Amino acid sequence: MHTPAQLDHKFIWHPFTQMRDWLAREPIVITSGKGAVLRDVHGKEYLDANSSIWTNLHGHAHPKINSAIQKQLGKISHSSALGFANEPASLLAEKLVESAHPAIGAQASRLRVVNRSFLRGTLKLAVGTPALRLNKVFYSDDGSTAMEVALKLAYEFARRSGRSKNPKFLSLDGAYHGDTVGAVSLGHIDLFHKAYSGLLFKTDKVAAPYCYRCPHNQAKPERGDARDYRKCKFECLKAVEQKFSAQRKRKNPYAAMIVEPLMQGAAGMIVQPEGWLKRVAEIVRNDGAQLIADEVMTGFGRTGFFSELKTQNLELKTALFACQRENVQPDFMALAKGMTGGYLPMAATLTTQKVFDAFLGEYDEFKTFFHGHSFTGNQLGSAAALASLEILQSPQSVSVRKKLQENLRIELNKLWALPNVGDIRQVGLMAGIELVKNWETREPFALRERAGLRVCEAMAKRGVLTRPIGNVIVIMPPYCTTQKQTATIISTLADSVAEILGSKIIPSGQ
Ligand code: PMP
Repeated sequence: MHTPAQLDHKFIWHPFTQMRDWLAREPIVITSGKGAVLRDVHGKEYLDANSSIWTNLHGHAHPKINSAIQKQLGKISHSSALGFANEPASLLAEKLVESAHPAIGAQASRLRVVNRSFLRGTLKLAVGTPALRLNKVFYSDDGSTAMEVALKLAYEFARRSGRSKNPKFLSLDGAYHGDTVGAVSLGHIDLFHKAYSGLLFKTDKVAAPYCYRCPHNQAKPERGDARDYRKCKFECLKAVEQKFSAQRKRKNPYAAMIVEPLMQGAAGMIVQPEGWLKRVAEIVRNDGAQLIADEVMTGFGRTGFFSELKTQNLELKTALFACQRENVQPDFMALAKGMTGGYLPMAATLTTQKVFDAFLGEYDEFKTFFHGHSFTGNQLGSAAALASLEILQSPQSVSVRKKLQENLRIELNKLWALPNVGDIRQVGLMAGIELVKNWETREPFALRERAGLRVCEAMAKRGVLTRPIGNVIVIMPPYCTTQKQTATIISTLADSVAEILGSKIIPSGQ
């Protein structure tokens, strides 16, 4: 074994990893990356099919992001946001607010050329209107801290606004919002969370719209996305309504509901049927509660593009966030992972003027938000994030992403030929493929069979890297992934499923 592998085995404890299994084999030691390709210490190349745990956007060693970081390195790497402002963090905050409101963002870019001070006036006037809800940016370090910030702000806002003395939260079954104690309390994955229940505060959960395994879906399994052939009466929405009214009857209405919009990642790449998010946002809004959108995985273009037919609104077609696909304006939006293009750990929680104002006061009223991290507003991260946003908004990136979305759709379609594929859930530039014992009955593999893990190990041997969530294989390649690379990722998955699970191809026409 190479030295780094030996040192790793000797000293490192890996996240979400059974270390006994880890220590039983030589680890893949990554030494470099370029575009969608990672290279290991032996010179073997791999396709990065999960974008290095859903972080990378434009590929590894992107010249624009590298040079933005290098340029910033020459000035300063970090100074504290406790007491000081800095240029890249300020510029980035403006960009994030603009991209959270795509129509305004486009208008702002046009106006900026004409008159910057006029633009500021326009934005100021618009503050508080629905069009510019999210106009304050609180920086932190990762997805968990971004969610922790949203949670604490929503909690305190509910108390200060008189809504609740004892604020309560509602989140989705299977939710995962990070590993810090507050974020874990919002989560509902027993495997990860149950052991720590004594440490956590209680939150309510409601069923997620998991069409493929929904007890209300009367449709027999088909070779297609369960969202399209489901037969139900949207009972999952009624469940949300019931939760809100039951909590109202207890005379303590919810402070907020937390959702991963369009797709719940760690729950198993569970997708929401069209219209679910919009309707849930209305239920939350009508109740007077706040909506926390965890866009840690879905943000920065991951959810792809609208069908050209569904909207004539040109600005929205290039929307960067999942919420925008259903025209939903949350009260909090948590961003991390792809924010810096996946280069540096940095996160942000966007919120409203209303929440911000609730923390204003005389010094000795102590209304201050007493929360913050040492690396908040870090210059290197901000410089990388600014470069990444610029790439994202370029026509070239838009066209590359559209192609990847279409290539993925075409390639994923081929997987229906495998009887061990039960459901394929694509949202834009990501997908979950649920492996089953029998597609006609939806019979799952038991977790102890490690079906997903074994398939991913077989994929790694063939040069494609990703991680499963139970029996669900995640495919989330960097946006620069070519047609050929996309085809390789999916054919490698098919070969590995056939090898490990013994899938025989279903003859076409069946
Ligand atoms: N929210 C979501 C939706 C996530 O997918 C994750 C991480 N997978 C987190 C929060 C936590 O992010 P981090 O690992 O950066 O703390």
